[in-house]
Amino acid sequence: MSRRYKSGTARAQYALLPPRIEDYVGEDNRVRAIDAYVESLDLVALGFRYADGGLTAGQPSYNPAMMLKLYLAGYMDRVRSSRRLSRECERNLEVIWLVEGLRPGYRSVAEFRRVNGPALRAACRDFVVLCKELELLGGEVVALDGAFFNASASDASIMTKKRLEQKLEQLESDIDTYCRELDLEDEKEREWSDGLSDEPALKEKLERLKAHQARTQSQLKQLEASGESQLSRTDPDARKLSKKGQRVTGYNVQSVVDEKHKLMVHHEVTNAGNDQQQLAPQGRVAKEALGVETLTVLADAGYYSESQLVASDQAGLSVYVPIPDKHKAVTARGRFSGERFTYVEGADVYVCPGGELLRPRGKPSAKGGIQRTRYTRAAGHCQRCPLRALCLPEKARCRQLFRSEHAARVDAHRRRMAEAGSEPMRRRAATVEHPFGTLKRWFGWDHFLVRGFTKVRGEMSLMVLAYNLMRVLNLIGMAALRDYCARRLQAAQHDSWVSAGT
Ligand code: SF4
Repeated sequence: MSRRYKSGTARAQYALLPPRIEDYVGEDNRVRAIDAYVESLDLVALGFRYADGGLTAGQPSYNPAMMLKLYLAGYMDRVRSSRRLSRECERNLEVIWLVEGLRPGYRSVAEFRRVNGPALRAACRDFVVLCKELELLGGEVVALDGAFFNASASDASIMTKKRLEQKLEQLESDIDTYCRELDLEDEKEREWSDGLSDEPALKEKLERLKAHQARTQSQLKQLEASGESQLSRTDPDARKLSKKGQRVTGYNVQSVVDEKHKLMVHHEVTNAGNDQQQLAPQGRVAKEALGVETLTVLADAGYYSESQLVASDQAGLSVYVPIPDKHKAVTARGRFSGERFTYVEGADVYVCPGGELLRPRGKPSAKGGIQRTRYTRAAGHCQRCPLRALCLPEKARCRQLFRSEHAARVDAHRRRMAEAGSEPMRRRAATVEHPFGTLKRWFGWDHFLVRGFTKVRGEMSLMVLAYNLMRVLNLIGMAALRDYCARRLQAAQHDSWVSAGT
């Protein structure tokens, strides 16, 4: 006896009561939450193009609310390209339900993301307000971290000054070679006088090389005028970045994550090569977003700098950031590092390992915007010291130390990290790795599809919004979010009626 399988409904079968699209999308389907959330937004206030519905020449045919729903559903489902999003509108029943059967072409889909970068950022900030209203943010401790993401540009599209100069050198040498070859051809032509060709191919090559040389010279001038160290020809804002052995052509994305439920409260796309100047600016914006008086910020050693420590104090941030060990190289060579010298507060002197005093000399000098005072002792004394081989750098006649104007603050921070820094650092790792891990592993996302800061920042906001939305759905569930969005929409409508005097 042959086995029987389950059978489906014949495709050509008529139904007395045909199913609606609505029937294919369950009550617990997340597209319903996306729909409720986007409907609760004031897209005009957020700055979405053409959201006011006014009829103007060239207005796109699709409502920005529909486009935003499509993008959110796509990003949450790892579908990001405009062509694939457009295709989803034809074959994915959830998306068909969400966009009510509309079928935007890929150009219309791409255009929405292209022109709405700032509005997407505003929508992302608005979602943080929503999280706050839902009491999902602790607002006490946040973790800060940065990650590199690839740009839509190749390595070869980025030129440094050195590379441009090498290229110019090579072009000059090639042009010389072709000029010599052309001269030889001219000579042969004169000797034989038999109407041989004047080598048009050689002349063409020469013209091409000269045009290339002019382009490269103009790029070099552009780079020098910009004051930057790299010139990116494909994506003007992407840079070659490297950190801990990782090299990318792309962007450095900063993210501030609230410890309570690992929701991202702030993010910023930069092209900074390191994180040293990010602590206070990112912490300050996160504090504003959370609307709190003080905020504890946890960051890794890459964020440490004296100026940022001071700026963080001024911004009302309590920071836990390890101080990198700058003395490793000196101690590895067996020499005394600066840590072996003790500063005596009242006397304003350093006591060296030999028990001698190093006193301040000259006026403080500024380095990196920070005043530093030089402490030293007479060269003759150090030269006679039995410890000089362990203390003096090569060729130095005496030991000198530089004390910054913020040294007392740094010392206090060092003590605080030594006494109570390990626990916050464990919490930092547990907090901040969640969102980046989710973006990279779950969403499979590691590169931008658009170019330039405005668009790249818009795309990042879409990504963060998708992450936060998914997280909130996991935390409070579909029904609670839909209820909340419905109440939010009602309140907004009520406010608009009141202001309109109806
Ligand atoms: S070399 Fe100079 S600074 Fe160093 S231990 Fe000797 S006296 Fe002190």
